[in-house]
Amino acid sequence: MDYFGGQAVSRRTVMKMTHNGVRSYCRTGLRFVMNLQKNIQEAMIMAALNKKSVDDINVKGQRVLVRCDFNVPLIDGKITDENRIVAALPTIKKLIADGGKVILCSHLGKPKGEPKPELSLAPVAVRLSELLGQEVKFAADPEVVGPNAKAAVEAMKDGDVILLENTRYRAEETKNGEEFSKELASLCDVFVNDAFGTAHRAHCSNVGVTKYVDTAVVGYLMEKEIAFLGNAVNNPERPFVAILGGSKVSSKISVIDNLIDKVDVLIIGGGMAYTFAKAAGGTVGDSLLEMDYLDYANKMKEKAAAKGVKLLLPVDNVVADAFSNDANTQVVPAGQIPDGWEGLDIGPETAKLFADAVKTAKTVVWNGPMGCFEMPNFAAGTKAVAAALAETDAVTIIGGGDSAAAVNQLGYGDKMSHISTGGGASLEFLE
Ligand code: AMP
Repeated sequence: MDYFGGQAVSRRTVMKMTHNGVRSYCRTGLRFVMNLQKNIQEAMIMAALNKKSVDDINVKGQRVLVRCDFNVPLIDGKITDENRIVAALPTIKKLIADGGKVILCSHLGKPKGEPKPELSLAPVAVRLSELLGQEVKFAADPEVVGPNAKAAVEAMKDGDVILLENTRYRAEETKNGEEFSKELASLCDVFVNDAFGTAHRAHCSNVGVTKYVDTAVVGYLMEKEIAFLGNAVNNPERPFVAILGGSKVSSKISVIDNLIDKVDVLIIGGGMAYTFAKAAGGTVGDSLLEMDYLDYANKMKEKAAAKGVKLLLPVDNVVADAFSNDANTQVVPAGQIPDGWEGLDIGPETAKLFADAVKTAKTVVWNGPMGCFEMPNFAAGTKAVAAALAETDAVTIIGGGDSAAAVNQLGYGDKMSHISTGGGASLEFLE
């Protein structure tokens, strides 16, 4: 067995996943660049083209700046979900073991270019110290790369770890500005990008900085994300089932467009499904509806039929007489929602239909909840899908965001092959 992105897998799998992942990443990246959407990191494209990762460099005695994604939820200074921190550990541990001077950086929330104490990364340094079993010095510095940070880096010994302050304390960060990029680069000899959650943005700390360092590579988490998502989309073991949910058709159009060319079964649930039901001539009461997308929904149905893709839509819904957990509810057939009622979850027949489709799958990608799962009375559909994924032997990939949160909250996290740390980034990967 081998160690890949913190997961035990065979060497053959590593070779296969890395190859396909890197190749597909290059393609995706180049397409984005051609579209002039500067949302995929040049560093990653370069690193991917050169097939360079932390395994290909010698960091002994070097100052290594690692862009992590420590954008974790905080309530009153307490980290409420540490998955992104845990996911960053394999790369950090590797660099410590190799004798690098490990300088970590990340953004946290949206401080909008000024220091906001409630968005300081200080609590992350504390938790990281516990998880690593060694001190992670927090380089508190309102300028991020100011006198404190510089002095802390200067004093580092091989194997030491420090964490810089929230990169978005600097207004230039999100504009990919030159000055801040240069300042970050001045701290290091080598740059490692391991922040998949930011992979769809071009900022100083993931893109700008790479212009001013000689060596830029990707970390294990980035490699693993690319390998799983790339492999699933471009070289899936079949049957390949994609499950899409969430609120709107409009926000997932490009994902639907792309997946319909690749999957054997496309399952659509959540708020998106009511636009399909209306397009088919049904009534949807007060449910979420995008009238501008009725044509699109019908075209997708035709396209699926022409391609031999099975398109599964809800056959029943849990409807409520108000958008509230305490509302009155009933189960009605899809497309037969009375006025004054709105669909807030898939119904039990639909949950069974979707779960059965997952049973025979070899690869499943899931993005978006089946209903308003934040309200317990409308979480059953999302739970049923999560349970079905937990039980199948298929490769199961959860595309970040709400579905990742749902799977983790339900305690199924360790039953999935891969839970992406990127919401927006994993969606763009599927587009
Ligand atoms: P998205 O960000 O597009 O993936 O949407 C996630 C959100 O969609 C969650 O907050 C859900 O509560 C919401 N959602 C899912 N199903 C429905 C529904 N039937 N009606 C309203 N909102 C929904």
